[in-house]
Amino acid sequence: MDSPMFRKQLSDTEKDTKWFLEEIKQISDSVIDACEMGARFTSALEAISNLLADLKSSLHNNQLEQGLSKLVEALSHYQTHQNALIVDILKVFAVPAQNFVEKESQSLKELSKSLGKLRQTHDTVTSKYFKKISKQAPFVHANHEALEEELAKTRTDLRVSSLDYASKLNEIEVLGKLNFVSGVSGVTDCFLKYSGTMVEAFNGILVYKEVLDHFLKKSKGVVEDELQRLFNRRIAHKNVEKDVTNSPTASMKGYLFYANKSKRVKAAQDVGSWQRRFFAIDYGYFVKYKSSGDKVVKRWNLLVASVKKRTDMDRSYVFELTVMTPSPDGRSMFPESLLLQAESEEQLALWLETFRSAIMQSLSSQNSQNLKDSTKSNPDYKEKLKLLNPKCADCNKRDPEWASINLGIMMCIKCSGIHRSIGVPKLLVKSILLDDMDDTTIKLMLNVCNDKANKILEANLKESQTFTKITDESPQEDREAFIKAKYETRSFITTNTIEE
Ligand SMILES: [Zn+2]
Repeated sequence: MDSPMFRKQLSDTEKDTKWFLEEIKQISDSVIDACEMGARFTSALEAISNLLADLKSSLHNNQLEQGLSKLVEALSHYQTHQNALIVDILKVFAVPAQNFVEKESQSLKELSKSLGKLRQTHDTVTSKYFKKISKQAPFVHANHEALEEELAKTRTDLRVSSLDYASKLNEIEVLGKLNFVSGVSGVTDCFLKYSGTMVEAFNGILVYKEVLDHFLKKSKGVVEDELQRLFNRRIAHKNVEKDVTNSPTASMKGYLFYANKSKRVKAAQDVGSWQRRFFAIDYGYFVKYKSSGDKVVKRWNLLVASVKKRTDMDRSYVFELTVMTPSPDGRSMFPESLLLQAESEEQLALWLETFRSAIMQSLSSQNSQNLKDSTKSNPDYKEKLKLLNPKCADCNKRDPEWASINLGIMMCIKCSGIHRSIGVPKLLVKSILLDDMDDTTIKLMLNVCNDKANKILEANLKESQTFTKITDESPQEDREAFIKAKYETRSFITTNTIEE
């Protein structure tokens, strides 16, 4: 029974069985890994559905909201089924397989240990017996009954133990295969059971998928138009840098609420009636239409314009456009302020950006177009400007050499620095010694001059409780406060001096 042949067979079977148990262990370990990952996936999905549920109210679109609700619902169904699938797979396969491997490995180990012990005992008894026999003289019958009995008993024990071990190995092979196949079949059932319901979970959102696709198609068109417009504008900017002779290309059109400040505003908050009108920025002009596409009511040249946001109004998205308007007799120019209200924060940003581009482009193109003949038509304009403006418009310092070409005034270098620091673009403050001016700018400068501008901008200065005119000696803070009050908040202006 314990022949070398039998031992060899037993050892081969033992190897196969151990390998089989090891395989089952690895498979069930991997299945448990997959289940843990699945559980993590499900909890991440849950977090996603919660976030989507929070987000949907901010879409401000009923159909999109409903679509998103359906998606959240579907995800929640999906999670439920996925969790159930994981639990079932653990139940039908992974846990029983782990238990099986653990239990059978343990009993194999015990049986193998006791078999080893019995083999050792058997070997000891056998060698003791043969030693006795070999020492014995030939043909003498000696009594070895006790030893023979012991030998017989260990043989029987060894045989029983070997058979036990062999049958355990067989049992593991047969039972193991059976359990494995039934586990795999159970897992297949789970997938069949849940994959259907998981897919069904998403059927409910099919209708809304169409809504979403429609929305995307529609929005894509809008976004593409917008990108094209931004692209065009970038090209326009580039062209201005590369080739200043190009005509202004920044353009935009749309509805704005509008109030003419010069006529209606007494205090900043006290704006009379606002009217909704169609406006356009086009080829360096700001154009007001009677209605969309209808005839032009008025055009303002943006060459000497400036824009700024107004956050001190009752309304949101308001900005102020200051342009130079010719007086009724056409002999001089006066600043005119338009209060405009965009329809949204985005629209406001777009209008402001387009205005700024248009103003810059106007200046660049005008400069290059007119520089050539500026000295021809007004060869001594620098002398004329000096005579017209003997003192700084702000502090009265003699011989100002800096020009604000959007206001048409001249300043000393200290005051011009403050003008630039309060947001007047560099291009709009020029040195009359270093920079050349184009014809239109020269005409404006010759038309406006410090005295005329101050008649408007400092009309109420004498009545001011807080401010007096600054001098060249004024400290920097006073100079800054005065210039801000004079130009930014226009504190000293009167409304009745400006008429269209
Ligand atoms: Zn000054």
